[in-house]
Amino acid sequence: MHPKYVYAFEEGDGKNTQLLGGKGANLCEMTQIGLNVPPGFVITAAAGRTSGDTPSVPSGVMTEVRSHMHRLEKKVGKAFGSPTNPLLVSVRSGAAMSMPGMMDTILNLGLNHATLPGLLQQTKNERFGYDAYRRFIQLFGKVALGVPDALFDEQCEAIKRDAGVKADAGLRASHLRDLSARFLHVVQQQTGQPFPEDVYEQLAMAITAVFRSWTGKRAVAYRREFHITPTMANGTAVNVVAMVFGNMGDDCATGVGFTRNPGTGANEMYGEYLVNAQGEDVVAGLRTPKPVQEMQREMPELYRQLVALRNTLEAHYHEVQEYEYTIEQGTLYCLQTRNGKMNAVAMVRTAVEMVHEGLISKEQALLRVNPSELEQLLHPCLDLRGAHTPVAQGLPASPGAASGQCVFDADRAEILGRSGVKVILVREETKPEDIHGFFAAQGILTSRGGKTSHAAVVARGMGKACVAGAEGLHIETKTRLATGDGVTLHEGDVITIDGSTGHVYLGEMPMIPPHFSDELQTLLTWADDVAGLEVLANADTPEAATQAVQYGAMGIGLCRTERMFNASDRLPLMVEMILASTTEERQQALDKLLPIQREDFMQMFRVMSPRPVTVRLLDPPMHEFLPSAQQLLDDIAALHEEYRVAVKGQTTAFQALGVSLPDDAPCEELITSVIAKKQQMLRKVQELSEVNPMLGHRGVRLGITYPAIYEMQIRAILEATARCLQDGIQVWPEIMVPQVITARELVRVKQAVEALQQHIETQYRRKLVCKFGSMIETVRACLQADTLAEVAEFFSFGTNDLTQATFSFSREDAESKFLPLYTASQLLPENPFEVLDVEGMGTLMQMAVAKGRQTNPLLKVGICGEHGGHPASIRFCSQIGLNYVSCSAPRVPVARLAAAHATLLESR
Ligand code: PEP
Ligand code: MG
Repeated sequence: MHPKYVYAFEEGDGKNTQLLGGKGANLCEMTQIGLNVPPGFVITAAAGRTSGDTPSVPSGVMTEVRSHMHRLEKKVGKAFGSPTNPLLVSVRSGAAMSMPGMMDTILNLGLNHATLPGLLQQTKNERFGYDAYRRFIQLFGKVALGVPDALFDEQCEAIKRDAGVKADAGLRASHLRDLSARFLHVVQQQTGQPFPEDVYEQLAMAITAVFRSWTGKRAVAYRREFHITPTMANGTAVNVVAMVFGNMGDDCATGVGFTRNPGTGANEMYGEYLVNAQGEDVVAGLRTPKPVQEMQREMPELYRQLVALRNTLEAHYHEVQEYEYTIEQGTLYCLQTRNGKMNAVAMVRTAVEMVHEGLISKEQALLRVNPSELEQLLHPCLDLRGAHTPVAQGLPASPGAASGQCVFDADRAEILGRSGVKVILVREETKPEDIHGFFAAQGILTSRGGKTSHAAVVARGMGKACVAGAEGLHIETKTRLATGDGVTLHEGDVITIDGSTGHVYLGEMPMIPPHFSDELQTLLTWADDVAGLEVLANADTPEAATQAVQYGAMGIGLCRTERMFNASDRLPLMVEMILASTTEERQQALDKLLPIQREDFMQMFRVMSPRPVTVRLLDPPMHEFLPSAQQLLDDIAALHEEYRVAVKGQTTAFQALGVSLPDDAPCEELITSVIAKKQQMLRKVQELSEVNPMLGHRGVRLGITYPAIYEMQIRAILEATARCLQDGIQVWPEIMVPQVITARELVRVKQAVEALQQHIETQYRRKLVCKFGSMIETVRACLQADTLAEVAEFFSFGTNDLTQATFSFSREDAESKFLPLYTASQLLPENPFEVLDVEGMGTLMQMAVAKGRQTNPLLKVGICGEHGGHPASIRFCSQIGLNYVSCSAPRVPVARLAAAHATLLESR
């Protein structure tokens, strides 16, 4: 006995999306809660898997399908293949994870030479009948028989040309009849076979094709982009549903709605509809639909029913729904519902408002927002101060602003986008096959279609800006031009689109930084309440620290002091310190650096007070502060040339003339002294040159060989602390030592800290509290964590270096030479510099935490490598018992939510 492969909508389990797909499960659920759904049944994803790569659905499945078709005939009072009263069905895909538009659907199935007269007779509407027929032949031809769409479109264009009309709507019944005949001919020519007349043969072929669309190019690319794994969705189910028609006349309509506004999250009726149209007309953007609010005037009773439908859906699913409906001769049918894809603004607002409305709990609100999507909220929007005149206006289809070069097709968008060029994909309308262009583009601009067109829905799902239906623009893909009212856009011209207003501007417009909404603040406060991990920021300047506080950082987990030396007023002092040939000379340079560092720390402490600030002592190899040897050699050669041409040449010329040199002539001494300085620097650079600088003279090794450098930094930190305390500012500094391999290094540095602390405490007559910790970024540090914890009060995993050390990869070489191949061929699941390598490095980390806490159960442990801002890596940090994560300021909100997710998911 094989398992049951087919479920009527009355019997399927609405929760079993793995078996029935999201669409099928929801059709069952909606039927069972009494919504008006056209009758139908679901063929399970498991049935699709049994057919594998075979060319047709196994006969066992078709036997069940036939029996369900008979039940369906009874329910709707029509017969499949009947010449007088034909039943037509749609055959729709639907996997466990929603993949809008990525798989295939066939409508009006069951039409042939015999049943068409029945439909014409039944509806008394020739235009409608032939329109249904030609749509069916095209869709079936494309999806089930693999006939290129363009061949049908050519015929359609030819008929429109002959009829002298621009839009399909202008075609009369006779034109559509001719078009159907032409389409049948196209199929015969392309496949060498007549179009299948047997309705059950049509059905079997359609089911097979829809199952097969799971492995189609679009679907595979989509799953790859959104990391949809086989455990999340394994094949598509197929829904066979009795057709209802929104295109039988003016008492018919079709529409798409969201239970809340998916662009802003506002709790309002949202959506669009078209009178006398089929669903694909709305989604494909072939006609620009009307906002649903107009239905209130045009079809008041149906609008009331639609509001009721929307309210029932949300109350039942406790989630924002995106639903499709059809009105057939005054009766409203709900064709499908699914969780609405929204941008992050809307996700956050609806999450908070649904908690306030009692629809969901705070935990549910937190878990329904994907932490990575919060990054969308940190994108800038247009700075509209000043006079900026838009060159075109469309619908605000997906909020946010984006600038880039106009590109008129998805392939080119992909090529340019991949090479780092910012592009805006400009199309008359988009289709699912354009998906790769969406991935590569900054934003999407279309001249046709509404807020629920393909372009709008997909862009919103991706959080990309989209302006849809900019009808004033005439887009010609062939000539790669868009022309509008007094404007012509060529491919490559830079434009800016504002998906929040629908405006299109020429050139790159100024942007303003993102704003934290009240709802986001609220959601993140809830996140902090549940999260076990603290979230700190990596920040090296008072500006970055200010931003970190605004984003809710609970302190600074890593202040890289080397970055403080790069400003133009400090670099020369740093260079002076490095070039020093004696200890005295070095001390003189350090004495000049001390007040500058102290002031830096005071500013940071003030901004962060009363939060802790972890300052890392100098880490990078010294030569990073000096020019490269090649640069110096070039400079010296240029100076010699200047000396030869300008100084020598001028001197000779003036001597020959018997006059003295003018005052502004290049000064010989100056040039020779600069050359001497550069040569001295060159010698130092050559002396400092290392084969593997990242494994060389850096980190604490510098502090051991040049103790005066670390002493200056420690003094600056402690004096800044003392001075802040004097000013009544609470300060919690922590000193962190990089690149440690043995506890003995830590002991040396700690002795310096203690000595200086004693001295400064006496000088300022204040007790200072300063934690002392170690970075864990070498393999030996992990292995020796128990002994390090005897000296260190805290550990911070520097997972950037620790990844390099674990893999023996140098990051730059790996990422530019072989890592892409490793990940593409799945030798490694991800780039370990972006996603923490749980299997390998994670084992080292886990061991270091355990060993450290063996010695010191109160040891505070955190992470400050880039992984500290990556949601899945944060989850791992929480699992192994870290106390905090530290990441760059803009990722702090992401990390706060991810930390909450980690706790909530662990407690499940
Ligand atoms: C690290 O290695 O993870 C780290 C934070 O230090 P840096 O990136 O400065 O080397
Ligand atoms: Mg490091």
